[in-house]
Amino acid sequence: MSPNAESTAFRSALEVIRAVEPRVADAIGAELADQRGSLKLIASENYASPATLLAMGNWFSDKYAEGTVGRRFYAGCQNVDTVEALAAEHARELFGAAHAYVQPHSGIDANLVAFWAILADRVESPALRKAQVRQVNELTEADWFALRRELGDQRMLGMSLDAGGHLTHGFRPNISGKMFDQRSYGTDPTTGLIDYDRVAEAAREFRPLILVAGYSAYPRKVNFRIMREIADSVGATFMVDMAHFAGLVAGKVFTGDFDPVPHAHIVTTTTHKSLRGPRGGMVLCGPELADQVDRGCPMVLGGPLPHVMAAKAVALAEARRPDFADYASRIVTNAQALADGLLRRGAKLVTGGTDNHLVLIDVSGYGLTGRQAEQALLDSGIVTNRNAVPQDPNGAWYTSGIRVGTPALTTRGLGTVEMDATAELIHTVLSQTTPGANADGTPSKAKYVLDPALADKVSRQAGELLTGFPLYPAVDLG
Ligand SMILES: *Cc1c(COP(=O)(O)O)cnc(C)c1O
Repeated sequence: MSPNAESTAFRSALEVIRAVEPRVADAIGAELADQRGSLKLIASENYASPATLLAMGNWFSDKYAEGTVGRRFYAGCQNVDTVEALAAEHARELFGAAHAYVQPHSGIDANLVAFWAILADRVESPALRKAQVRQVNELTEADWFALRRELGDQRMLGMSLDAGGHLTHGFRPNISGKMFDQRSYGTDPTTGLIDYDRVAEAAREFRPLILVAGYSAYPRKVNFRIMREIADSVGATFMVDMAHFAGLVAGKVFTGDFDPVPHAHIVTTTTHKSLRGPRGGMVLCGPELADQVDRGCPMVLGGPLPHVMAAKAVALAEARRPDFADYASRIVTNAQALADGLLRRGAKLVTGGTDNHLVLIDVSGYGLTGRQAEQALLDSGIVTNRNAVPQDPNGAWYTSGIRVGTPALTTRGLGTVEMDATAELIHTVLSQTTPGANADGTPSKAKYVLDPALADKVSRQAGELLTGFPLYPAVDLG
């Protein structure tokens, strides 16, 4: 590759866009500048490689390709077949999975495909066999209505939102909570950890069709071997949503009992979080569910995004290189350094630390709500997001937590020394911020008081921390 290839590629792309709508070109340039200048600790974000980004900006976007490789509803999909097959092959090899479906447009879409495939396999197929037809559309209307009544309730047991689970794991207002009768498991109130005996008890009582493991805000590893035993004990399908920690699975940080792939019937993920690929989702499964999963489009999803599948193939090829394992282990070392730095300065952390890429700070220890802490940190050049803590007294909007994660800063090359400096900046801001009051004098859950001079100083220090670690160093927009 020529030394200026990346700069030339992005400069030319912006020049072409600028000729049509300069404000879009300006916004794209401004986004790079903002990302370069911010200390990004959002646990679900990362920086995809230039090759991954460039694979998305082309004519693959113009192609319809419903169906899957070799079974398309549209003609002329030979090149889409090439990239979809490549992405699936890299995914299977990387994760040791029998089957990979790389079409889901996002993590939520991957979960919907998984739910649909499980329902089709576990509920509909046996009923159709009984009725001696292959597909529901072969039933008369009357038989179909009778069948639907007979199928009855379907149940899901997943981790509760406030314990770190995801909306799609059965949260009542979410589509998953409407598709399924749901119950959730939480964490132990004293340790903050998943109590597997309690999960087993809930499974025995509730007898779910699907047991879901996986999280967005749980700072510990999960024993998937035990979870599978629990699922087996009640005949449930065991699904793992590894959206957040797929990079740690890919990089062999989570192995044995902590690798979901050998233990789950079906695994879903995003591709853009710790895995560092393009925005998108993916489903991995064994041969039993493969045919159903492959019907995700058009049964659940709109047409696949071939340009994003091309980028998934590129990113997954990157994740198969030895240096990705090194990256994944540095994500965790950095998260632990950040946790240690915060603890040493007196912060209160959910579960008292981390085994993965994220740390959940209980900011009630600073007398703040998550919302106040998030804004005060943002004023100080530190980008985080607020998050509920288990049994959060401030609910899901104001919250009592701040979630911080290390995948993005680790991509930039920051290490444990910088994580300790980051802990110092976070602690400084949070310990110097005080809750504000409403106009009538009552305490506010949103307003806060932080000396602007301190916020400026921390902003400058955060900027200095980043100067040795340029983002997209080979991209110069001029
Ligand atoms: C982020 C996340 C999702 C959703 O991913 P999207 O790509 O935003 O749809 C699903 N499940 C978990 C556990 C997540 O953390």
